[in-house]
Amino acid sequence: MSHDGLPNSRQSLLGVSHEGDEVWLIRGISQKQYTCPGCYGDVEIGEDHVIAQTVMRLGGTEHRHWHRSCAKRILEPGLNRVKAVNAREAGRSKLESRGKRPAGKRGRRTPRR
Ligand SMILES: [Zn+2]
Repeated sequence: MSHDGLPNSRQSLLGVSHEGDEVWLIRGISQKQYTCPGCYGDVEIGEDHVIAQTVMRLGGTEHRHWHRSCAKRILEPGLNRVKAVNAREAGRSKLESRGKRPAGKRGRRTPRR
């Protein structure tokens, strides 16, 4: 399935890493400069980019800022079961509270589209 143009402001992507962690790809506009983990180049201030928020299977979260093209080329192909989800499901505070419990104890398993 193609997810061209995603994530955008209305839809995020959700996939599962080989370790079984949830990886949420969220569209963001950088407030400061970041280093992209894909190419080690700068993600400039104001750049439309991808925030990859990982919610670990055993609990806990972390996030990285990727260039859109690097996320598409490097990150997304390494994820399983990538699907589009409503961006409202992918707010940072929502995902951080999701990460406070291990995967088996989160109630609803996967968010609605
Ligand atoms: Zn990059």
